[in-house]
Amino acid sequence: MPSDVNHVVEFPGGYTRSVGPVIGRFLSELRDGRMVGVRTSGGRVLVPPTEYDPDTGDDVTGEFVEVGPVGTVTTWSWVAHPAKEHPFDRPFAWVLVRPDGADTALVHALDAGVFDAGAEAPKFLKTGMRVRPKWRAERTGTIGDIECFLPEVTMINPQAKLEFRLSGGRALHRYLEGIAQGRILGSRCPVCEAVIVPMKETCPRDGVPTTEEVELPDVGTLTTYAVNNIPDPRAPEVPFVSGYVLLDGAGVPLLTLIAGVPADQVRMGMRVKAAWKPREEWSPSVGNIKWFEPVDEPDVPFDEIKDYL
Ligand SMILES: [Zn+2]
Repeated sequence: MPSDVNHVVEFPGGYTRSVGPVIGRFLSELRDGRMVGVRTSGGRVLVPPTEYDPDTGDDVTGEFVEVGPVGTVTTWSWVAHPAKEHPFDRPFAWVLVRPDGADTALVHALDAGVFDAGAEAPKFLKTGMRVRPKWRAERTGTIGDIECFLPEVTMINPQAKLEFRLSGGRALHRYLEGIAQGRILGSRCPVCEAVIVPMKETCPRDGVPTTEEVELPDVGTLTTYAVNNIPDPRAPEVPFVSGYVLLDGAGVPLLTLIAGVPADQVRMGMRVKAAWKPREEWSPSVGNIKWFEPVDEPDVPFDEIKDYL
């Protein structure tokens, strides 16, 4: 039918050869103020869309699905001291956001409000929080058409913030102290006995204070990952891979970049090790670890990591 043909060739304004048709469609939709994912033959919706299903290597179906714009933060990393190439000149968070209707998440910046340099992460910043994109008025068909994400509901008030500064910031501070010495610190929950990393004062599962500081090795297993085709100042190249690494002995995985391996060779269960910046560049920053890269060890069977996805 002629209408089918029209659908196939229509890339409203933004199709360029360099990014390929799938990501080109994604960027074109962004320019129009929409987010789309692509459906895999298995029914999952990938955002940002890729030409191949990262799980099976099969071509995706070509069916684009509008997602979001509201989404859920699946993980986050607070940047207390932004660098000059960062999108904000004040503290902000990198977040992985899974738009409603999507099965994967994309990396973007979250504007959590105005904080002084070096401030602790605000209490409302947490996995599961709802966020929505802040669109630029003038859009050009790049990921930058989303200026940033914003919290969907503002729950902060000065009293809560004060309380948090008194009681809630010690774990992150302690974690960064460890990182400044090349150590990765977690905290053990007395109920479920899981080691939470980065260390937290409260077990997210049981809601009880953690009681024991535990140093973890900088070696672990990649549990899940996403291939990202959008440039990121922290990533060495495009495409780059972001993923969750379950450090040996940890009870929760850590979000990080994966490098030192072509994106199409990254596997669930792959054993990886932290690549640290040179020691003289260390500071109390999660940026001391540039990324994780593969080590020459056999992959961990899926059964052993399936509870940590
Ligand atoms: Zn627990």
